[in-house]
Parts: sequence; structure tokens; C-alpha cells
Amino acid sequence: MRILVLADIHSNLQALEAVAADAETRGGWDAVWCLGDVVGYGPDPNACIAWLREQQATVIAGNHDLACVGAIQLVDFNAWATASCQWTQTKLTPASAAYLRALTKPPLVVGDFTLTHGSLVDPVWEYTTTAQVAAASMLRQTTPWCLVGHAHLPLSFGRPARGGDVTATALTEGVAITANGRRVLCNPGSVGQPRDGDPRAAYAVVDLAAGTLTPYRVGRRRGGSAAADAGGGTAGAAGEPTGCR
Ligand code: ZN
Repeated sequence: MRILVLADIHSNLQALEAVAADAETRGGWDAVWCLGDVVGYGPDPNACIAWLREQQATVIAGNHDLACVGAIQLVDFNAWATASCQWTQTKLTPASAAYLRALTKPPLVVGDFTLTHGSLVDPVWEYTTTAQVAAASMLRQTTPWCLVGHAHLPLSFGRPARGGDVTATALTEGVAITANGRRVLCNPGSVGQPRDGDPRAAYAVVDLAAGTLTPYRVGRRRGGSAAADAGGGTAGAAGEPTGCR
């Protein structure tokens, strides 16, 4: 069984469609997991929700999903995030708002995988970007794998089977990683708003039979020519939103 793993789509339908088309050429998928932040920043919240609904995706709530339906306060958001949330609130259909309200709060255990948005210490808000933060999260990890979003950075951390230090391990485009007895914590990167300087959409495919996770990047198509830009007009090179509509 192959799982398409998506994080931080952020209402970027063009990037989502580019990811789906790319994943289709790599053998497709049997199920979709989304690690939160379906909406916020981008222009197409309802279409992205409709796509996930059609896929019957397993989706956990991110901070933007919760804020856009008033489940958490906007006070913790920066000015850009606040503006985009307020704009999104005016665009959500009643059905989309109901979908976001019904999302499972992280973390969620699915077989050998724990899905969360931030970390397992703070499932909604904590950015898992360092080995130290990952180590604290992994103390609460009961499954071989933990998949996180929120940071918008493709990252992977591993802890040896017999314990020991948590270290960052390479996450290289097209190169599968395995748990192999280790504990692994992995962020596939963001579909809709990458923040690692590479504007291409990021995603991963988990192959349950092989026990692998393979990260991929894909540029979106614009004006009939391939353009390596998954920002959807809402994110600059540094990932700062530049045009919240
Ligand atoms: Zn996000």
C-alpha cells in the first residue's frame, strides 16, 4: 500500500495538483495522509478541501485550520498569517468550514506511524527543526515513525534502535529512507509554501510493504511552461507570504 504524504498545502491548489500529477507518474497512491494546514495563505481553500474530501484523506488539524474556524485565537499569529486567516474565513463555504471543524486534532496513530502537525510535545505549535526538539518529541513517540509538518522544511531525524543521540539524517529527493529498527521523525516539507529556499512543492510517498518513505519535489506548471514555483503567488523565496488575498 502506497501513501501520499502531504503537509502544509496552505490553499495552494496549483501546487497540490502538481504534486498529484507527479505522484501519479511515480506509481500513484492508495491513500492520502495530510499533516495539517490545509488552508491559510493561498487562494484556493475550498478546492483544496474538496480534493482531500474526494480522496477520503486522513487529515489532522494544523494551527491555520483551527484558526480559520475560530478553534484557536489569532493572537498567536503574525500579521501575515492573521490577514490570510481572516481572508480565508470570508471564503470558506459552510461545508468547508464544517470539514475543518471536524478534523482530528493531532497526534493520530496509524499503524507504525504517528501523524502530528508540530511535534509530540506541542502537536499544534512547536516547530521541530533541531535535533534537540526532535529528541524531546521522540521520547513520546511510541511508533517507529513520526511524521510532522508545520516547519515547511524537509527534515529527518533518527534515534538508534538501542537508544542514544538523536541526529539529523539526510532527506534527499528521490532517495528512500527506512526505519530499520530506529525511531524516525520526518517532515516531508510543504506542498504549498516551501521555506527551504527551493520553491518547488515538497511531498513524500510511504510504501508500507517496503517500509520506506521517499521524498520528492515538483515545480508547478504556469502559462504552459514548467515553472519551478510552488508558491502560488502567496510566498516569496524566503517563504514569507507576499500576497494574501
Ligand atoms: Zn503551515
